[in-house]
Amino acid sequence: MIPLSGPDITKKEIHAVVEVLKSSRLALGSKLSEFEKKIKKYTGVKYAVALNSGTAALHLIIRALGIGPGDEVITTPFSFISSSNCILYEGATPVFTDICPKTFNIDAGRIESKITKKTKAILAVDVFGYPADWDALGEIARKHNLKLIEDSAEALGSTYYEKKCGTFGDAAIFSFYPNKQITTGEGGVMVTRNKRVADLCRSMSNQGRKTKGSRWLEHVRLGYNYRMSDLHAALGMAQLARIDEILKQRQRIAEAYHALLKNVTSVKIPFSSPETRRSWFVYVVTLAQCYSRARRDQIIKSMEKSGIQCSAYFRPIHLQKHFRDAFGYRRGDFPVCESVADRTIALPFFNHLKQAEIKRTVRILSGLL
Ligand SMILES: *Cc1c(COP(=O)(O)O)cnc(C)c1O
Repeated sequence: MIPLSGPDITKKEIHAVVEVLKSSRLALGSKLSEFEKKIKKYTGVKYAVALNSGTAALHLIIRALGIGPGDEVITTPFSFISSSNCILYEGATPVFTDICPKTFNIDAGRIESKITKKTKAILAVDVFGYPADWDALGEIARKHNLKLIEDSAEALGSTYYEKKCGTFGDAAIFSFYPNKQITTGEGGVMVTRNKRVADLCRSMSNQGRKTKGSRWLEHVRLGYNYRMSDLHAALGMAQLARIDEILKQRQRIAEAYHALLKNVTSVKIPFSSPETRRSWFVYVVTLAQCYSRARRDQIIKSMEKSGIQCSAYFRPIHLQKHFRDAFGYRRGDFPVCESVADRTIALPFFNHLKQAEIKRTVRILSGLL
């Protein structure tokens, strides 16, 4: 079976983790703060708090920005579920805005009609590593005095007009789940220019302790255990040290797919444009308009029967059961999102994928169209 994804782990990563195990300092040690330093340097953002998932990072940002019951957050229905769940965690309401059919990101042109007195923030996602339209989003946020949150979980290393994703809003997150560009096993990080927001996130991630000078059993606010361990941080450091090489290899694999797929008329390869650089997270092709969801699902099944794991990225968030139950959403509510979601197929994509496997994947896919 050619799997959908897989991490790129070398001896360096294994060595780094073993060193921490031998040190006996497994948590809240120097690896954690070193990893945060390296993340700050790589992204160019002033503060970073490493956490045990990207979802935890989103949750803390929502809380730190004071978003709660009665508030609305404008966001995209075409994303991984956590970019909307984090809003529900705090009793606020996600207000969906349909997406751009080319980039698959929230359509900034549709946002202003969704703004009400209750709107507190825009939470945009760099879907599949392709940067959202941060200039337009920033302008809307400023004009209406809204917070701007970046879910850059899939976009470590992506750039928008030469500026890195994760640097445009009030706060941003990256995820280090094993299918992301770099991994810590489980893990994530929040980054921000705002010291108050960073301090609040750090305190809340550590059971509500003060960021400095707290005794272990003294807690000044409601907190969680969202900390990243030093084992995970050491793995992350070893991965981050190799990020240029990792991203280059992902780029090569994407280009190999482009070359083989560009003459297959029934599929569209991922969108690209000169003003952005996509850091490759997944390789998602889109079937032509005439393909139905049932046909797409059949193609994915047939690919799997041939030993090639594929996936339908994403299922629209508004159509997930708990969103339908809570808000009464139905098919038809966000037609662009649904049309895209019905026709996308994520192909196997990871650093050890061989040219022969890419060829086989494209040959079998073409045969099914
Ligand atoms: C992966 C991902 C997350 C969540 O990250 P975890 O580390 O798995 O919690 C959030 N948003 C998007 C868009 C993601 O792809």
